[in-house]
Amino acid sequence: MKSSTRTSKLVNEIPPSGIRKFFDLASSMDNIISLGVGEPDFITPWAVREACISSLERGYTSYTANAGLLELRVEIAKYMNKQFQLAYQPKDEIIVTVGASEALDIALRAIIDPGDEIIVVEPTFVSYAPLVTLAGGKAVPVGTTVETNFRLLPEQLENAISPNTKAIMLSFPNNPTGSTMTEAELRGIAKIVEKYDLLVISDEIYAEMTYDHTHSSIANIEGMRDRTILISGFSKAFAMTGWRLGFVTAPSDITSAMLKIHQYTMMCASTMAQHAAIEALQNGMDDVEKMVQSYKQRRNYFVKSFDEIGLPCHVPGGAFYAFPSIKNTGLTSEQFAEQLLLTERVAVVPGHVFGLGGEGHIRCSYATSLDNLKEAVTRIDRFLQSL
Ligand code: PMP
Repeated sequence: MKSSTRTSKLVNEIPPSGIRKFFDLASSMDNIISLGVGEPDFITPWAVREACISSLERGYTSYTANAGLLELRVEIAKYMNKQFQLAYQPKDEIIVTVGASEALDIALRAIIDPGDEIIVVEPTFVSYAPLVTLAGGKAVPVGTTVETNFRLLPEQLENAISPNTKAIMLSFPNNPTGSTMTEAELRGIAKIVEKYDLLVISDEIYAEMTYDHTHSSIANIEGMRDRTILISGFSKAFAMTGWRLGFVTAPSDITSAMLKIHQYTMMCASTMAQHAAIEALQNGMDDVEKMVQSYKQRRNYFVKSFDEIGLPCHVPGGAFYAFPSIKNTGLTSEQFAEQLLLTERVAVVPGHVFGLGGEGHIRCSYATSLDNLKEAVTRIDRFLQSL
């Protein structure tokens, strides 16, 4: 068999993640300051790690229910209610998943029929469009721009809708732009969603990291709860990326479709990680608050510094990324990232990898120490002077 036909056409069609290329290059160099990674620099709070150790000591080494431990789903329901005023039934409206990543995958596979179009609001997390393709759908990108602070406008959404549109994927606070949307802004989007009878996949994994207003979920707007598949998890807020634990909340017809896929592909999420997550939700909110305050302090320093060295940067209202414009350097984002890495050993991610609207920007994660950020700013400044 020819090697081009040994693997599926769908898989051949999707490009490898543009982030990896820079990681691979950076990992072969020393004295690197990495602003490239999309994960907290904190270690998971000790009490959460201890809950995992205790789970193992008590011998909890078998599968849980497919949807996850009921005790954890009860805690997730309480958490969603307390933090975001959303009511979900632990029994049939919540599934514990292997990261938000799995939740995104099974959400798309549960709703897509061949040829269905999914509107992907870009720049955004690199997985969305490939996951739509792998699920047999067609990703329809809608690019946001710095002029609107990378928020989606209702008319942009309406222009992208066709008779084949099934759903829209939203993610605010956003990776890579850090932009957020207020309840009033989401209302405009909700009207269009309702008018065209669409579903919403709302990835709110950065909800806790909203710095300038309280986070609003689109599911909170009248009529939207029944249309929204809300995705979240423990990776960002609780600094638990390596635990691979996320969750999804949605109306029960959708969770039961998702559960079919989850039970055949995953069975369940890791048992000890689920025990740790119960501790995180019951007693970990003070730690979350401390980490969020620290990100906010770093954001304030970092964004101001970019403006001072001549890279205009909109104020990211959430997540832990700055997305400054590099347009005035005359370089493409790929050239900028590559030259910066090779000359000054600072790793950033070129904006174009995040889709429409990303070119002309670089993503710089500030989930690293203030000392690292200061050194990175010095190096980027020197790089700019050398151009
Ligand atoms: N959604 C977004 C927007 C993300 O940035 C990430 C991680 N970078 C994920 C989902 C995946 O999260 P998890 O570790 O829970 O799979």
